[in-house]
Amino acid sequence: MKNATDHAQNLLDFINRSQTPFHAVHEMKCFLSAKGFTEINEASAWNLTSNGKYFLTRNDSSLIAFIVGSKPDAGFKIIGAHTDSPNLRLKPHAGYVKSGYMQLGVEVYGGVLLSTWTDRDLSLAGRVILSGKKKPISKLIRFEQPLLRIPQLAIHLNRDVNKKGLVLNAQNHLPPIFSLQKKATPDEVLKKMVAKELQCKQADILGLELSLYDTQPGTLAGPEEEFIFSGRLDNLASCHSAMHALAESKKNDPATRVIAFYDHEEIGSETAQGAGSPFLKDVLERIALNENREGFLRALAKSFFISADMAHAIHPNYSDQHDARHMPLINSGPVIKSNANQRYATDAMSSAWFELLCQKAGVAVQKFVVRSDLGCGSTIGPITAANLGIRTVDVGNPMLSMHSIREMAGAKDHASMILAFKEFFKA
Ligand code: ZN
Repeated sequence: MKNATDHAQNLLDFINRSQTPFHAVHEMKCFLSAKGFTEINEASAWNLTSNGKYFLTRNDSSLIAFIVGSKPDAGFKIIGAHTDSPNLRLKPHAGYVKSGYMQLGVEVYGGVLLSTWTDRDLSLAGRVILSGKKKPISKLIRFEQPLLRIPQLAIHLNRDVNKKGLVLNAQNHLPPIFSLQKKATPDEVLKKMVAKELQCKQADILGLELSLYDTQPGTLAGPEEEFIFSGRLDNLASCHSAMHALAESKKNDPATRVIAFYDHEEIGSETAQGAGSPFLKDVLERIALNENREGFLRALAKSFFISADMAHAIHPNYSDQHDARHMPLINSGPVIKSNANQRYATDAMSSAWFELLCQKAGVAVQKFVVRSDLGCGSTIGPITAANLGIRTVDVGNPMLSMHSIREMAGAKDHASMILAFKEFFKA
């Protein structure tokens, strides 16, 4: 890959195939395998070799990959990010009929910008649990064609909407239209479609874990293709840049290089495969297995963690929502995020450290702190920092419309972040 447009297009190809964390992890597994990484799993014994490349997953929705360092106590260089994005998910008994329509009940996953899910050509993706010979098995599924829509009420029936804004009740106003009423129930219709798609028996379907997604693919945009318009930029863009930086890091390094991508960041990370779980710590301990406990702790003390998650760019129509001296601009470089109350894990030392890294990579850096009268978002940074006791910096590329069904970021920034991460993983 040569220029910013190539990197951005490569990111779009990845996101366009990654409608859910399950799909994102599947895509990353394929990429890493092609780059010479070996899959291992937590239930088996590991025989890791120095400079060996490995990856493993939890729940098929979180992934850790690493290149074993040549010196076991030299520490870990880690980049963390998250695989999940806010969306709408089908309820277990999703289907019902109302006013002559078939509809599907949905739950809100994470901090969805609800209005953006209306009037889009939606479909379904996720995983299906099938009965296997010995135990249930999981299969990826994605319907390519538009299947669903959450139609807005016509303005004639909602005259004040432009003055008062679109107010959506999650229970009453979000269930999408699936079809018109027919003899079969909506759940029967859905099950039949799933069985056809997976070429399995309906009786073998034990469970569905399906999310709604926008069928419109992400695209480059702007007069010079300087922008990226796509869903799930938060935070698949960070996963993509870190994964490429790791896969393309060449020379052997005394330190172990790690990428850790977690599911469930958008709902607080406190799950078995979230950033609040022992997943990463377990893996680091097993990498350092030949060391004694003291050697492992020495390695942790020499380690550094980059928590990569997208940042809020300045919005020209709402510029008063930013602190006047902290207004990250799209395509002006990665953003270091800090917060006095440690909603971001950055401190002056880790910030300086990342800035130096960017300097070496020839990449400009910006800084963000939220307005003092607004609450601050958070990331996996403080959670992993507290779990591991490793110095951490929170960084991310500037973007607009965060948590919208269709977000916006800069093509050049993506290439810059890859350069910065490559510098981090350089021996
Ligand atoms: Zn995020």
